Amino acid sequence: MNNKEIFEKAYKYMDVTLTESNCGLLCNYHCCRAVDENGCALGIYFLPFEYNEIQKNEKLIDENSIEIHTRKVYDLPVGINKMFFGNCKDNTNCIRSLRPIQCRTFPFAPHIENGKLYLIIEKEQEHDCPLIEKKELWNPDFEKSILKGWKELLRIKEIRILIEYDSFVRSNENNILYKYAQSEELKGIYYK
Ligand code: SF4
Ligand code: SF4
Repeated sequence: MNNKEIFEKAYKYMDVTLTESNCGLLCNYHCCRAVDENGCALGIYFLPFEYNEIQKNEKLIDENSIEIHTRKVYDLPVGINKMFFGNCKDNTNCIRSLRPIQCRTFPFAPHIENGKLYLIIEKEQEHDCPLIEKKELWNPDFEKSILKGWKELLRIKEIRILIEYDSFVRSNENNILYKYAQSEELKGIYYK
């Protein structure tokens, strides 16, 4: 499978929503904001290969908003030289079938520890998701489907490098609020 096919498969697995109804109505689409309460810009970080393979030339992302964040300036691990960052053309009118991984996985983040993949929720949240403390409202398929998607994405070496790095930083900073679903031990197939 090439990177594009891996993303397509992961997008399918992760085509689930946290609640049965539109959760954006609960919080006025808090996690889609383009600026935070202090006026600082917010946006979407694409996974390695995601922008060029899947999102470029599609209708969702404003190409003029795309920034390339390089390792020279940003805190990126060895093996990741740049990350693409950008905004939606219209944050109030989501094209759900195209939404990137960052939007599909929230409020979960992937976390690798002792060779296993977990879904976690960080203590430090950019978005005050009102559903984090209301697990009873969650779609029961959400955890399982998001975990399957991440397992697929970890076949891409650069994504694995990035997630391992983020996990290391997160553990060092004691930035885990909740730890959820866990995969079996990740094996060699996750490296190309
Ligand atoms: S912040 Fe939480 S409730 Fe609000 S749109 Fe995002 S995921 Fe849904
Ligand atoms: S892709 Fe959809 S869910 Fe993600 S920021 Fe844009 S409008 Fe919001």
